Amino acid sequence: MTPGPTNVPSLVRDAISKPMIHHRTPEFKNIFSELTENLKYVFKTKNDVLILTSSGTGGMEAAVCNFFSSSDKVIVCNNGKFGERFVEICKRYGLDVIELKYELGEAAKPSDIKNNLDSEIKGVFVTQSETSTGICNDIKEIGNIVKKTNALLIVDSISALGSVDMRTDDWGVDVVIAASQKALMGPPGLCFISVSEKAWEAYKKSNLPKYYFDLGKYKKKSQENETPYTPAISLIIGMNESLKIIREVGIDNFLKKHEKISEKLRRGLIEIGFEIFPRSGLKNNGLTVVKSLPGIDSSVIINAVKEHGYVIANGQEELKGKVFRIATMGDVEEKDIDKMLDILKTIVKKFA
Ligand SMILES: *Cc1c(COP(=O)(O)O)cnc(C)c1O
Repeated sequence: MTPGPTNVPSLVRDAISKPMIHHRTPEFKNIFSELTENLKYVFKTKNDVLILTSSGTGGMEAAVCNFFSSSDKVIVCNNGKFGERFVEICKRYGLDVIELKYELGEAAKPSDIKNNLDSEIKGVFVTQSETSTGICNDIKEIGNIVKKTNALLIVDSISALGSVDMRTDDWGVDVVIAASQKALMGPPGLCFISVSEKAWEAYKKSNLPKYYFDLGKYKKKSQENETPYTPAISLIIGMNESLKIIREVGIDNFLKKHEKISEKLRRGLIEIGFEIFPRSGLKNNGLTVVKSLPGIDSSVIINAVKEHGYVIANGQEELKGKVFRIATMGDVEEKDIDKMLDILKTIVKKFA
């Protein structure tokens, strides 16, 4: 129950271990086409959804180097480690970054974006679920602000998509980035990125260097259900099975399951005496970040949980030792929550 890589269902594992097929064959093209359609369904979009062989960070880099030009002014919301990564990538490509930096555990304030969004701003970067703190930003509200302007809205939904609702088209999100190893229940190695018409217009003007991540090439090839370079074929076959599972359940039912189990987890944790780390933002149905017990390093709790057969994650950087992170994304069931709460109850008793 870590925030990625998550559990991979056996159906998906079986699909990945099948004999290799070639990627310029009708057999592969059918799978690629089906996966692309099902991704659009999960992204809730009619925009292009492109499949990259890279981890999520590759998609973040692609979102910067494809749609902007040197010295473009952009707003980046920084709520933690992953918002900070967007700041770093934008700066590396020479963009002029207005950083909205929040205290750890605080969500972005849409009014801050509104106040900084003058006609010179070319893009707004937001992390939907900030995996380092557990906060969940309100993309709908931010979308309402940004879609009235010429700026692009770029959302890192890598740990959110599939566990937190993302309505790409309804909310006016130009670029959404997701990855295989979080709520979408695949192994690491694939990244998915949706691109709106407004973003493709910006692509035409972009002067930043790009080669492997030149999304125009992926768009052109995806019209023939192919990729420009050899993709991670096995992972694509596996992801197709995973997306078929989600489609069969229905994305909204899948999201409801996450809402139900994460609410149960949060309630149970508070009953035991734990405190939830995020202080603002929306409920995060994919990830719960919890403060450790007073005077106890969170690694002690994490190791004790591991003895019972469950893996949860520590905090990162300055939150290391202070919090632990329990993911409810992907293939997690109510029985896992019951078990986790029982385990934590036993551990708390030991320290009381
Ligand atoms: C996991 C994650 C990433 C990307 O991580 P990779 O290791 O490159 O896949 C980016 N943003 C968020 C919010 C994440 O949770």
